[in-house]
Amino acid sequence: MSAILKVENLSKAFSGVRAVREASFEVEQGSITGLIGPNGSGKSTTIDCISGFQRIDAGRVELDGDDITNLAAPDVAHAGLIRTFQNVRVYDSFDLLDNLLVADAALGGLHWYDALMRTRSFRSVSAAAEARASALLDLVGLSRLIHAPATVLSYGQKKLLAFAAAMMARPRLIVLDEPVAGVNPTRINELADILRKANAGGISFLIVEHNVEFINSLCHKVIVFEQGRKLMEGPPDTVRNDPRVLDAYLGIAPASGASPAEAT
Ligand code: ADP
Ligand code: MG
Repeated sequence: MSAILKVENLSKAFSGVRAVREASFEVEQGSITGLIGPNGSGKSTTIDCISGFQRIDAGRVELDGDDITNLAAPDVAHAGLIRTFQNVRVYDSFDLLDNLLVADAALGGLHWYDALMRTRSFRSVSAAAEARASALLDLVGLSRLIHAPATVLSYGQKKLLAFAAAMMARPRLIVLDEPVAGVNPTRINELADILRKANAGGISFLIVEHNVEFINSLCHKVIVFEQGRKLMEGPPDTVRNDPRVLDAYLGIAPASGASPAEAT
Protein backbone atom coordinates (compact mmCIF):
# COMPACT_ATOMS: atom_id res chain seq x y z
CA MET A 1 0.00 0.00 0.00
CA SER A 2 1.43 3.43 -0.87
CA ALA A 3 1.72 6.27 1.61
CA ILE A 4 -0.21 9.53 1.27
CA LEU A 5 2.03 10.96 4.02
CA LYS A 6 5.58 9.94 4.74
CA VAL A 7 7.44 11.50 7.69
CA GLU A 8 11.13 10.70 8.00
CA ASN A 9 13.28 11.45 11.05
CA LEU A 10 11.34 14.57 11.96
CA SER A 11 12.99 16.57 14.75
CA LYS A 12 11.90 19.82 16.35
CA ALA A 13 13.21 21.59 19.45
CA PHE A 14 12.04 24.74 21.23
CA SER A 15 14.97 26.48 22.92
CA GLY A 16 16.42 23.24 24.23
CA VAL A 17 13.18 21.30 24.66
CA ARG A 18 13.29 18.42 22.21
CA ALA A 19 9.59 18.28 21.38
CA VAL A 20 9.95 15.74 18.56
CA ARG A 21 12.97 13.45 18.09
CA GLU A 22 13.64 11.64 14.84
CA ALA A 23 10.06 10.48 14.43
CA SER A 24 9.27 8.43 11.34
CA PHE A 25 5.84 7.20 10.33
CA GLU A 26 3.48 6.89 7.40
CA VAL A 27 -0.20 7.39 6.74
CA GLU A 28 -1.30 4.87 4.13
CA GLN A 29 -3.31 6.07 1.18
CA GLY A 30 -7.03 5.83 1.96
CA SER A 31 -6.51 5.07 5.66
CA ILE A 32 -7.64 6.59 8.91
CA THR A 33 -4.58 6.73 11.15
CA GLY A 34 -4.59 7.72 14.81
CA LEU A 35 -1.84 9.53 16.70
CA ILE A 36 -1.99 9.17 20.48
CA GLY A 37 0.33 9.70 23.43
CA PRO A 38 0.49 11.38 26.83
CA ASN A 39 0.33 15.14 27.20
CA GLY A 40 3.59 16.74 26.05
CA SER A 41 4.65 13.76 23.92
CA GLY A 42 4.98 15.90 20.78
CA LYS A 43 1.72 15.19 18.92
CA SER A 44 0.69 18.80 18.29
CA THR A 45 4.22 19.82 17.37
CA THR A 46 4.36 16.97 14.87
CA ILE A 47 1.17 18.00 13.11
CA ASP A 48 2.18 21.68 13.26
CA CYS A 49 5.40 20.68 11.48
CA ILE A 50 3.79 18.60 8.76
CA SER A 51 1.06 21.18 8.03
CA GLY A 52 3.40 24.16 7.73
CA PHE A 53 2.61 25.88 11.04
CA GLN A 54 6.08 25.22 12.48
CA ARG A 55 9.43 24.83 10.70
CA ILE A 56 11.17 21.53 11.34
CA ASP A 57 14.83 21.35 12.41
CA ALA A 58 15.59 18.14 10.56
CA GLY A 59 13.80 15.45 8.62
CA ARG A 60 11.60 15.18 5.58
CA VAL A 61 7.86 15.28 4.91
CA GLU A 62 6.33 13.88 1.73
CA LEU A 63 2.74 14.16 0.57
CA ASP A 64 1.90 11.54 -2.02
CA GLY A 65 5.54 11.40 -3.09
CA ASP A 66 6.07 15.18 -3.26
CA ASP A 67 8.50 16.86 -0.88
CA ILE A 68 6.51 19.35 1.24
CA THR A 69 9.15 19.81 3.95
CA ASN A 70 8.87 23.30 5.48
CA LEU A 71 6.45 24.65 2.92
CA ALA A 72 4.25 27.45 4.31
CA ALA A 73 0.78 26.40 5.50
CA PRO A 74 -1.13 27.78 2.46
CA ASP A 75 1.21 25.89 0.13
CA VAL A 76 0.76 22.69 2.12
CA ALA A 77 -3.02 23.20 1.90
CA HIS A 78 -2.73 23.78 -1.82
CA ALA A 79 -0.77 20.53 -2.13
CA GLY A 80 -3.75 18.72 -0.60
CA LEU A 81 -3.11 18.54 3.16
CA ILE A 82 -5.59 20.43 5.33
CA ARG A 83 -5.62 20.52 9.13
CA THR A 84 -8.17 21.60 11.68
CA PHE A 85 -7.41 23.13 15.06
CA GLN A 86 -8.45 22.01 18.49
CA ASN A 87 -10.05 25.41 19.05
CA VAL A 88 -12.68 25.76 16.37
CA ARG A 89 -12.40 28.74 14.07
CA VAL A 90 -15.68 29.87 12.53
CA TYR A 91 -17.07 33.30 11.60
CA ASP A 92 -19.96 33.72 14.06
CA SER A 93 -21.78 36.51 12.25
CA PHE A 94 -21.65 34.80 8.85
CA ASP A 95 -24.18 32.21 7.84
CA LEU A 96 -23.03 28.63 7.32
CA LEU A 97 -22.87 28.93 3.54
CA ASP A 98 -20.66 32.03 3.73
CA ASN A 99 -18.44 30.34 6.31
CA LEU A 100 -17.68 27.62 3.78
CA LEU A 101 -17.19 30.09 0.93
CA VAL A 102 -14.72 32.12 3.02
CA ALA A 103 -12.87 28.95 3.97
CA ASP A 104 -12.69 27.94 0.32
CA ALA A 105 -11.29 31.30 -0.78
CA ALA A 106 -8.84 31.41 2.16
CA LEU A 107 -7.61 27.89 1.43
CA GLY A 108 -7.14 29.01 -2.16
CA GLY A 109 -4.44 31.33 -0.84
CA LEU A 110 -6.38 34.57 -0.49
CA HIS A 111 -5.79 36.90 2.44
CA TRP A 112 -8.73 36.69 4.86
CA TYR A 113 -9.95 40.15 3.87
CA ASP A 114 -10.02 39.27 0.18
CA ALA A 115 -11.56 35.93 1.12
CA LEU A 116 -14.44 37.78 2.82
CA MET A 117 -15.01 39.64 -0.42
CA ARG A 118 -15.61 36.34 -2.17
CA THR A 119 -18.74 35.58 -0.14
CA ARG A 120 -22.31 36.03 -1.34
CA SER A 121 -22.64 39.19 0.71
CA PHE A 122 -20.08 40.97 -1.38
CA ARG A 123 -20.07 39.55 -4.87
CA SER A 124 -21.31 36.69 -6.92
CA VAL A 125 -19.61 33.41 -6.14
CA SER A 126 -19.20 30.51 -8.49
CA ALA A 127 -22.18 28.19 -8.68
CA ALA A 128 -19.77 25.29 -8.30
CA ALA A 129 -18.43 26.56 -4.95
CA GLU A 130 -21.95 27.13 -3.69
CA ALA A 131 -23.07 23.67 -4.78
CA ARG A 132 -20.07 22.07 -3.10
CA ALA A 133 -20.71 24.04 0.12
CA SER A 134 -24.29 22.93 0.17
CA ALA A 135 -23.36 19.28 -0.45
CA LEU A 136 -20.87 19.42 2.43
CA LEU A 137 -23.42 20.94 4.80
CA ASP A 138 -25.62 18.02 3.84
CA LEU A 139 -22.80 15.58 4.64
CA VAL A 140 -22.38 17.03 8.16
CA GLY A 141 -26.16 17.26 8.71
CA LEU A 142 -26.35 21.05 8.90
CA SER A 143 -28.20 21.87 5.63
CA ARG A 144 -31.27 23.12 7.41
CA LEU A 145 -29.12 25.87 8.96
CA ILE A 146 -27.45 26.90 5.71
CA HIS A 147 -28.69 30.51 6.03
CA ALA A 148 -28.43 30.77 9.82
CA PRO A 149 -25.55 32.68 11.39
CA ALA A 150 -22.87 30.37 12.79
CA THR A 151 -23.47 31.84 16.23
CA VAL A 152 -26.61 29.66 16.64
CA LEU A 153 -24.49 26.51 16.47
CA SER A 154 -23.54 24.43 19.50
CA TYR A 155 -19.84 23.74 20.11
CA GLY A 156 -20.16 20.29 18.54
CA GLN A 157 -21.94 21.72 15.49
CA LYS A 158 -19.18 24.30 15.08
CA LYS A 159 -16.71 21.46 14.93
CA LEU A 160 -18.81 19.86 12.18
CA LEU A 161 -18.83 23.19 10.32
CA ALA A 162 -15.05 23.45 10.68
CA PHE A 163 -14.77 19.95 9.26
CA ALA A 164 -16.99 20.88 6.29
CA ALA A 165 -14.80 23.98 5.79
CA ALA A 166 -11.70 21.78 5.69
CA MET A 167 -13.38 19.66 3.02
CA MET A 168 -14.05 22.67 0.75
CA ALA A 169 -10.55 22.55 -0.75
CA ARG A 170 -10.93 18.89 -1.83
CA PRO A 171 -8.02 17.77 0.38
CA ARG A 172 -6.38 14.39 -0.06
CA LEU A 173 -5.34 14.22 3.60
CA ILE A 174 -7.07 15.87 6.56
CA VAL A 175 -5.25 16.19 9.87
CA LEU A 176 -7.64 16.58 12.80
CA ASP A 177 -6.46 17.89 16.17
CA GLU A 178 -8.66 16.49 18.94
CA PRO A 179 -11.89 16.54 16.92
CA VAL A 180 -14.10 15.20 19.71
CA ALA A 181 -12.65 16.99 22.75
CA GLY A 182 -15.57 18.63 24.57
CA VAL A 183 -18.15 17.15 22.21
CA ASN A 184 -21.11 15.19 23.57
CA PRO A 185 -21.34 11.41 22.94
CA THR A 186 -24.18 11.57 20.39
CA ARG A 187 -22.23 14.02 18.27
CA ILE A 188 -19.09 11.91 18.63
CA ASN A 189 -20.87 9.00 16.93
CA GLU A 190 -22.21 11.37 14.30
CA LEU A 191 -18.70 12.65 13.56
CA ALA A 192 -17.35 9.10 13.37
CA ASP A 193 -19.97 8.27 10.72
CA ILE A 194 -19.17 11.44 8.78
CA LEU A 195 -15.45 10.65 8.82
CA ARG A 196 -16.14 7.11 7.61
CA LYS A 197 -18.20 8.51 4.73
CA ALA A 198 -15.51 11.01 3.76
CA ASN A 199 -12.93 8.23 4.02
CA ALA A 200 -15.04 5.99 1.76
CA GLY A 201 -15.02 8.92 -0.68
CA GLY A 202 -11.22 8.68 -0.86
CA ILE A 203 -9.93 11.10 1.79
CA SER A 204 -7.18 9.91 4.14
CA PHE A 205 -7.06 11.03 7.77
CA LEU A 206 -4.52 11.53 10.52
CA ILE A 207 -6.30 12.06 13.84
CA VAL A 208 -4.78 13.26 17.12
CA GLU A 209 -7.23 12.39 19.86
CA HIS A 210 -7.37 11.44 23.54
CA ASN A 211 -10.67 9.60 23.21
CA VAL A 212 -9.33 6.04 22.95
CA GLU A 213 -12.69 4.49 22.14
CA PHE A 214 -13.17 6.91 19.24
CA ILE A 215 -9.68 6.16 17.91
CA ASN A 216 -10.06 2.39 18.27
CA SER A 217 -13.42 2.28 16.52
CA LEU A 218 -12.27 4.42 13.60
CA CYS A 219 -8.59 3.86 12.89
CA HIS A 220 -6.88 1.28 10.74
CA LYS A 221 -3.57 2.03 12.43
CA VAL A 222 -2.59 3.81 15.64
CA ILE A 223 0.78 5.50 16.22
CA VAL A 224 1.87 6.05 19.82
CA PHE A 225 4.21 8.87 20.84
CA GLU A 226 6.14 9.12 24.09
CA GLN A 227 8.49 11.96 24.99
CA GLY A 228 8.88 13.14 21.42
CA ARG A 229 9.60 9.71 19.99
CA LYS A 230 7.46 7.15 18.26
CA LEU A 231 6.99 4.40 20.83
CA MET A 232 5.13 1.95 18.58
CA GLU A 233 2.46 1.60 15.94
CA GLY A 234 0.00 -1.06 14.89
CA PRO A 235 -3.67 -1.99 14.58
CA PRO A 236 -5.84 -0.61 17.44
CA ASP A 237 -6.17 -4.00 19.14
CA THR A 238 -2.43 -4.57 19.22
CA VAL A 239 -1.72 -1.08 20.53
CA ARG A 240 -4.43 -1.27 23.17
CA ASN A 241 -2.96 -4.45 24.64
CA ASP A 242 0.69 -3.44 24.52
CA PRO A 243 2.16 -3.01 28.03
CA ARG A 244 4.55 -0.28 26.79
CA VAL A 245 1.57 1.91 25.93
CA LEU A 246 0.04 1.54 29.37
CA ASP A 247 3.45 2.30 30.85
CA ALA A 248 3.79 5.42 28.73
CA TYR A 249 0.54 6.79 30.09
CA LEU A 250 0.76 5.65 33.70
CA GLY A 251 4.44 6.48 33.95
CA ILE A 252 3.70 10.18 33.84
CA ALA A 253 0.14 10.24 35.16
CA PRO A 254 -0.02 12.98 37.79
CA ALA A 255 -2.74 11.39 39.92
CA SER A 256 -3.23 7.76 40.88
CA GLY A 257 -6.16 5.95 39.31
CA ALA A 258 -6.13 7.97 36.10
CA SER A 259 -7.08 5.91 33.06
CA PRO A 260 -5.09 6.31 29.85
CA ALA A 261 -7.94 8.35 28.37
CA GLU A 262 -7.82 10.77 31.26
CA ALA A 263 -4.07 11.04 31.66
CA THR A 264 -3.80 13.97 29.32
P1 ADP B 1 1.30 17.09 22.85
O1 ADP B 1 0.53 17.72 21.75
O2 ADP B 1 1.60 15.66 22.64
O3 ADP B 1 0.64 17.31 24.18
P2 ADP B 1 3.28 19.14 22.28
O4 ADP B 1 3.71 18.88 20.90
O5 ADP B 1 2.29 20.23 22.48
O6 ADP B 1 2.74 17.79 22.94
O7 ADP B 1 4.53 19.47 23.18
C1 ADP B 1 5.73 18.70 23.17
C2 ADP B 1 6.77 19.40 24.03
O8 ADP B 1 7.19 20.59 23.39
C3 ADP B 1 6.30 19.82 25.41
O9 ADP B 1 7.36 19.66 26.30
C4 ADP B 1 5.93 21.26 25.22
O10 ADP B 1 6.06 21.96 26.43
C5 ADP B 1 6.96 21.71 24.22
N1 ADP B 1 6.45 22.81 23.34
C6 ADP B 1 5.45 22.71 22.45
N2 ADP B 1 5.26 23.87 21.80
C7 ADP B 1 6.18 24.74 22.31
C8 ADP B 1 6.53 26.10 22.04
N3 ADP B 1 5.86 26.83 21.11
N4 ADP B 1 7.54 26.66 22.76
C9 ADP B 1 8.21 25.94 23.67
N5 ADP B 1 7.96 24.66 23.96
C10 ADP B 1 6.95 24.05 23.29
MG1 MG C 1 -1.36 18.77 21.93
